[in-house]
Amino acid sequence: MQDLLTLLGIDVEYVRGEGNTLYFLDETGHEVPVIDYAGGYGALVLGHNHPEVVATVESFLRDRRPVLGQASRQPAAGRVVARLNDIVRREFDTAEPYYGVFSNSGAESVEVALKHAEFDRQLRLRALLEEIAEHVEQAREAVRAGTAVVSDGTDGDVEALAERVRAANSAVAARPPVFLALEGSFHGKLVGSVQLTHNPAYRTPFGAMAAQARFVPVDQPEAITKIAQEERAVLLDLRLKDGRVSVVERDFPQFAALFMEVIQGEGGIKEVTEQQARRIRQACAALDCPIVVDEIQSGMGRTGAFFASSLIGLRADYYTLAKGLGGGIAKTALTLIRGGRFRREFGLVHTSTFAKDGLSLAVTHTVLDVLEDRDGQAYRQAAERGARLVDLFRSLIKAHPEVLKEVRGKGLMLGLEFRDLSGATAPRLREAARSDLLGYVVAGYLLRAHRIRTFPTASAVNTLRFEPSIYLTDGEIDALERALRDVCARLDDQDEEAFFGP
Ligand code: PMP
Repeated sequence: MQDLLTLLGIDVEYVRGEGNTLYFLDETGHEVPVIDYAGGYGALVLGHNHPEVVATVESFLRDRRPVLGQASRQPAAGRVVARLNDIVRREFDTAEPYYGVFSNSGAESVEVALKHAEFDRQLRLRALLEEIAEHVEQAREAVRAGTAVVSDGTDGDVEALAERVRAANSAVAARPPVFLALEGSFHGKLVGSVQLTHNPAYRTPFGAMAAQARFVPVDQPEAITKIAQEERAVLLDLRLKDGRVSVVERDFPQFAALFMEVIQGEGGIKEVTEQQARRIRQACAALDCPIVVDEIQSGMGRTGAFFASSLIGLRADYYTLAKGLGGGIAKTALTLIRGGRFRREFGLVHTSTFAKDGLSLAVTHTVLDVLEDRDGQAYRQAAERGARLVDLFRSLIKAHPEVLKEVRGKGLMLGLEFRDLSGATAPRLREAARSDLLGYVVAGYLLRAHRIRTFPTASAVNTLRFEPSIYLTDGEIDALERALRDVCARLDDQDEEAFFGP
């Protein structure tokens, strides 16, 4: 990464950050402001060093409040979850409560969901196996008592049949879980979560280390049903009916969970539609497969609602939150689990030293204060500022159709896709496009020439992300307009010297 930043001339060191602005020092030691549209990769919903968040941290430390008080009553944690339940109730119109499991980063909150989903699957499996064991015992007793006969091809030997059931079931029960995820997804880079991240460059080197996901094309949710048929496995059970013992099949709980973002962030700011979400939910319901909606990037208000999934009416079994939850300062994350799915025992099998620390909880309370203030002014502001940016991008696309392709996203989670310029006549531009570096080249130019900071999304490199804070000013939008008009004009002219020097 360092090599790439140096190559692009953007290996700057920022010394101060406030609102949407980062500052670096020039050769004379003077601060140079840069408008930050990368927004901490979505984490800075409230900008850098928000004054209320800073005040919370300062007073927390001044009062010597405990940061680490593990295994004690931590009412601030319960209150965070209670406040989020209020928001869930409002945005999804449901009374069912969610339980919260805290962790330290986005990928970790995904790992919590992965582990809980597998824990839940194991408990469902165990209950099913216990039920089968009871049926086997009943069959055995009935045959011994002479009230039933074995009607299966085991010469009437109920013990042989019981052994066949046991052997078949123990082989099937050992199968690893299958997870489902959407093509284009990004769910983190830890050992388990990276297997849900679609980009093969991140995922495949580590495939042997964790359970595998099957990827579903976003626009073909019916693929879930096809995958279910391919993966289908059965457990054997015994049925005692009308004096006969016979073997019947029971569906093996193969799927632990489906993971999805409702606006794919690193996949290029791509939205899942209401209709796609509905079809995904129907397919998952048929498999008793819970849905995990990853709101790590889309959540915390930047799309115009606290949960982006509420804008398409998709209520999930699990939500993951991180990034903005820490107000741009704390590293904290939370997995919410629907009451009907939550397993209380999980609280003991999954813990972490730093999770639920006092300082992060205080910060999160302040973030929720700011977001929920004045009946959710922050959400309205995100929607309004976002609409202004979309207007700007649309007018640029109209003026430069050869350079720009489309704008996607909601509120302040926007992506502007550049056209594939691998057919450019200017050789250095062509080469950059062919090496998937054009987005980074444009980002470098925006920083050097216009003091604007943004980057391509991780897996869709022709899409530049625009995820500023809700405090984005008109002046900052005007500066972006001047910068992008300049970039588009130079790309139209294939003025490669502007980007690469003489
Ligand atoms: N899920 C999503 C949707 C994300 O955007 C990200 C980070 N870009 C992650 C998970 C991983 O979060 P972290 O980098 O905090 O591990």
